[in-house]
Amino acid sequence: MTATERNIAAADQHSAHNYHPLPVVVATAEGAWMTDVEGRRYLDMLAGYSALNFGHGNRRLINAAKEQLERVTLTSRAFHHDRFGEFCSALAQLCDMEMVLAMNTGAEAVETAVKTARKWGYRVKGVPDGRAKIVVAAGNFHGRTTTIISFSTDPEARADFGPYTPGFEIVPYGDLAAMEAAVDDDTVAVLLEPIQGEAGVLVPPAGYLPGVRRLTRERGVLFIADEIQSGLGRTGRTFACEHEGVVPDVYVLGKALGGGVVPVSAVVSSREVLGVYRPGEHGSTFGGNPLACAVALEVVAMLRTGEYQERAARLGEHLHHELGLMTGSGAVTAVRGRGLWAGVDIAPEVGTGREISERLMARGVLVKDTHGSTIRIAPPLVITKEDLNWGLEQLRAVLGDA
Ligand code: PLP
Repeated sequence: MTATERNIAAADQHSAHNYHPLPVVVATAEGAWMTDVEGRRYLDMLAGYSALNFGHGNRRLINAAKEQLERVTLTSRAFHHDRFGEFCSALAQLCDMEMVLAMNTGAEAVETAVKTARKWGYRVKGVPDGRAKIVVAAGNFHGRTTTIISFSTDPEARADFGPYTPGFEIVPYGDLAAMEAAVDDDTVAVLLEPIQGEAGVLVPPAGYLPGVRRLTRERGVLFIADEIQSGLGRTGRTFACEHEGVVPDVYVLGKALGGGVVPVSAVVSSREVLGVYRPGEHGSTFGGNPLACAVALEVVAMLRTGEYQERAARLGEHLHHELGLMTGSGAVTAVRGRGLWAGVDIAPEVGTGREISERLMARGVLVKDTHGSTIRIAPPLVITKEDLNWGLEQLRAVLGDA
């Protein structure tokens, strides 16, 4: 048995089969490259679903983590610690907002945003008790908790997990008229991904996000932007909403906020919104812990330079230009996305998304399929143009090979 086979057999035997990973067992990684247990090297074109925007083993982040590991890692929120205030103010400033509520995973942050919007609805907007409604979009992916899957439209994510949490209305993504019809006096929030990641990197029609912004402002409804996957540099801006000149009421952040080192997520908003909380009403043992804050502070400092956003914009333009050329080939039926982020639809006769991902893996490139016929490309923002070109060359070869 090879080391790869041994590792996969142990996972098959003792891990729940809630994922279908590619058959590669990673041992080490640096920058945009990963090395498996057999010593084979792979170009990482997925970046932990955008959690690794700054690359594997980023020295600034690793040093920040190491330094903090030697000082203090956890206090719980029973006590203050000396990285917390600094982190909250730096993140609020990056978002041009006033307050932060720190959590750990993306799903927890979305749950927090849902609870926050409901509480704001009852306490500030004056919605009658128990009636708060949140409007969401079809095809959404906001996480895996019971409440969040209650408003998913993906049967795989929902089946057998009911009863579901009420209080959500689902409208088609990108359809402003449907959104307008759904928003009523009990609506406390609209919750959207500015670009739908898991759905296949769907960019809404131009004008949609500004339309939602106008509508929510007119109707006294919070606009919650789930920028967990789209935010923090991926699209060439700090936030995907910026491409449309939109500032939401609430940002939900995760993934890259922890630099791929530690799980860090947050809800970021105004004092009017996050000021609704009193002690004891919400929290998390690990939320805002010293190690998380130290790493996330470094992430915020790196984003403040604008260097990563600029890089994602520049390399992203190149990526989309090259993918656009492939679209004419017949093997690629559509390409969507922004910055260093693309959903590539593969013609069925060429292979499924999974098959294309496996063929790419055999050539030393790691991506992941979604929805059967789509592959997602989201390399670390630190990838070099040469490496990106090499990855694209492998994609062209795989599509031509078929
Ligand atoms: N929201 C969006 C837009 C996501 O893409 C994801 C994860 O892919 C989540 C929420 C959930 O984050 P987590 O897996 O950290 O719970």
